[in-house]
Amino acid sequence: MIDKVALITGASRGIGRGIALALAGERFRCVINYASNAVAAEEVREQIEQAGGGAIVVRADISVAADRRHLVDTAMDSFGRIDLLVNNAGITSPGRADLLEAAEESFDRVMATNLKGPFFLSQLIARQMIAGIEKGFQQAPKIVNITSISAYAASVNRGDYCIAKAGLSMMTQLFAARLAEYGINVYEIRPGVIETDMTSPVKAKYDKLIAEGLTPIKRWGRAEDVAKAVVAIARDLLPFSTGEVINVDGGYHLRRL
Ligand code: NAP
Repeated sequence: MIDKVALITGASRGIGRGIALALAGERFRCVINYASNAVAAEEVREQIEQAGGGAIVVRADISVAADRRHLVDTAMDSFGRIDLLVNNAGITSPGRADLLEAAEESFDRVMATNLKGPFFLSQLIARQMIAGIEKGFQQAPKIVNITSISAYAASVNRGDYCIAKAGLSMMTQLFAARLAEYGINVYEIRPGVIETDMTSPVKAKYDKLIAEGLTPIKRWGRAEDVAKAVVAIARDLLPFSTGEVINVDGGYHLRRL
């Protein structure tokens, strides 16, 4: 069996790291992308290699066009194929300012990283996937976008983040509609409150909210919870679903009376 290749953005830490480790366990060779934390990215590569898997590390800021091209070129030069793209890298709203005070600089940064980057990276990689399908060496490659409950839950102190995630949600539908004819399914995974570096500054706040019943399943989510949903997609267990949203949120999205 030919090992497939997964490219995971922001795989040095948190959710992306969990996804990379889980996919390596499914015999995917992994392209571990990061922005600045080379040490953490190398640790993920070492962990995969020690378990008998294969991985490369590529530094690329996904908000920068030249970096995105470098990321895809390096993956293709190393492995010759990309079977699964996981658009995971993202930043929270810098400063978390109230809507009436929010700065344009923060808005631009969040949009560039959380929405523009995934859009144009998906475009680049979709072209590679289509070429692989047409040449006959690739079947049913997939794209997964990691959005957030912020795609629909309004947080007025990080409007830019919410808007970017809502946009990423529509992006999933757009690419799903466009790529279905090639057999490329596109999925949205919508995590709830997940314990990572991103949420560590607001840990006490969420500890309290979870204890008070924010989510029917009363615990923090873990990177592995999100990774398991990616694994189900990677194993092709949802072949007749595309543009689908998978909530990994402890039931946060349920309306309750
Ligand atoms: P995290 O712990 O802060 O990790 C972020 C990862 O993204 C790191 O690997 C980081 O690389 C990378 N990254 C950041 N900016 C990048 C850029 N411009 N180019 C390439 N890589 C970049 O975050 P997380 O909690 O795992 O979140 C991962 C994704 O899940 C994000 O899209 C986030 O919005 C989403 N999400 C998180 C939660 C949550 O509760 N944690 C909930 C819903 C959705 P470096 O190590 O080099 O900095």
